[in-house]
Amino acid sequence: MLERIAAAARACGRAPDDIALLAVSKTFDADAVLELADCGQRDFGENYLQEALAKRTEVGDRWRPQPSGRSRPDGDRPLVWHFIGPVQSNKTRAIAESFDWVHCVERDKVARRLSEQRPPGLAPLQVCIQVDVSGEATKSGCDPEDALELARTIVALPGLRLRGLMAIPAPTADTALQRMQFARVRAVFERLRAAGLPLDTLSMGMSADLEAAIAEGATIVRVGTALFGARPPKVRGD
Ligand SMILES: *Cc1c(COP(=O)(O)O)cnc(C)c1O
Repeated sequence: MLERIAAAARACGRAPDDIALLAVSKTFDADAVLELADCGQRDFGENYLQEALAKRTEVGDRWRPQPSGRSRPDGDRPLVWHFIGPVQSNKTRAIAESFDWVHCVERDKVARRLSEQRPPGLAPLQVCIQVDVSGEATKSGCDPEDALELARTIVALPGLRLRGLMAIPAPTADTALQRMQFARVRAVFERLRAAGLPLDTLSMGMSADLEAAIAEGATIVRVGTALFGARPPKVRGD
């Protein structure tokens, strides 16, 4: 996978190191996380809160970081947990207490709750605003027109640190269409930066479209299937 990301980066003249891999471990168990962690992977993404909390506890109990050394320059760097599912208001407390990042903030009410509920002893929660660029009726994410106002709200909240934008475009095998949607996210990103907001993250691209996302500036790609294999059909309700 790192090789696929590096090839996509080189193909558009970017440095492979500028793109981080977020391993999406939803539906896969603690063994799968530990196996990748032993290979040096540190960032893991989860969508379902109850599953994530149980897994995180199990991984925390079992994972022994390798001491740093020449062969493992950051072997003892801790794991970083990203919440990448939709954030419902009644789950903000558990998310604020247990995650390092949240990728899908789309409303100011949720942002305020996450900030208030972030425990003071922890670093601010790193957040991305999810923007809707699919134009579909089933949209998730804020309207691109509303992103600037939401970003200004978030940077004023002490418990949060705004990092950038996240998007899940409408799935399509048409690479031109993939790029067009990612380009829209990037345009919003540039607009917010031009307005003075200190954004450094574009969380976009999954197993099927990460090349297009990298070509349009992704700095984090969120990959599940291509790393762990096919997920079982979704049956859960949380
Ligand atoms: C499941 C999921 C992914 C990973 O998708 P794959 O196609 O399995 O790589 C990425 N982002 C989000 C928000 C997801 O829910």
